[in-house]
Amino acid sequence: GRIRRGSCRRRRAGRLRGSDPGGGGGARGIRGGIDRVVLATHNAKKLAELRRIVAASGVDVEVLGLDDVASYPEPAETEWTFEGNALLKARACAARTGQVALADDSGLAVDVLNGLPGVRSARWAGPGASDSENLDLLLRQLDDVPDAERGARFVCAMALVLPDGREFSLVREMPGRLAREGRGGNGFGYDPAFVAEGHERTNGELSPDEKDAISHRGQAVRAMVKLIAGLRGAGRPR
Ligand code: IMP
Repeated sequence: GRIRRGSCRRRRAGRLRGSDPGGGGGARGIRGGIDRVVLATHNAKKLAELRRIVAASGVDVEVLGLDDVASYPEPAETEWTFEGNALLKARACAARTGQVALADDSGLAVDVLNGLPGVRSARWAGPGASDSENLDLLLRQLDDVPDAERGARFVCAMALVLPDGREFSLVREMPGRLAREGRGGNGFGYDPAFVAEGHERTNGELSPDEKDAISHRGQAVRAMVKLIAGLRGAGRPR
């Protein structure tokens, strides 16, 4: 992957690269700090999740979604990395709204498929495929793969783009393995067949809180909220 100026990345362990995510400018670069962000999504669940985590962390930032701003033509997700697609969406949002913009991109990377379905996760069985069509196809493709080789990980990238052109991105992962068939009605997408590292139940059998605590998205959103709080300078922790 590429590392951009101002980029913040951490895989499974270790520290954020660059303790000053502003690349030298720091919080001083944003007059008055960040008090509002636009999440580049129409997905009400993603918006609610980000608002929940922002509120829980005591950071005083208003979170808007694309339904709250003038509509604009959204870019096609043409990149081959999660980070690339998240940046592409955040850049378009910042350019079109003139606001601080956030975007995410996520999917499932399967070891024996060299990281696929990856950025194609939502349309693995073809354009407009349903979650269960995608999952059924993937499980069929892995039919002859022995248990010891069924490793996979969920990946979530989040990107933050400021109207002054500064860009930050981070990636978080949830490692695990694929079961042979789906179990449990919670979650979405590939959740029924994914067993997170250290767990026996599938994501489909975890409660939403249990999943949030360990998930790629949960980790990425919490890290991004921290980054935003840092950029604000003095956040207002409760
Ligand atoms: P998006 O980033 O929300 O558009 O997700 C892309 C696709 O990746 C989804 O349609 C799912 O197929 C898959 N995916 C991403 N995150 C998860 C998850 O937490 N559980 C199950 N599937 C997921």
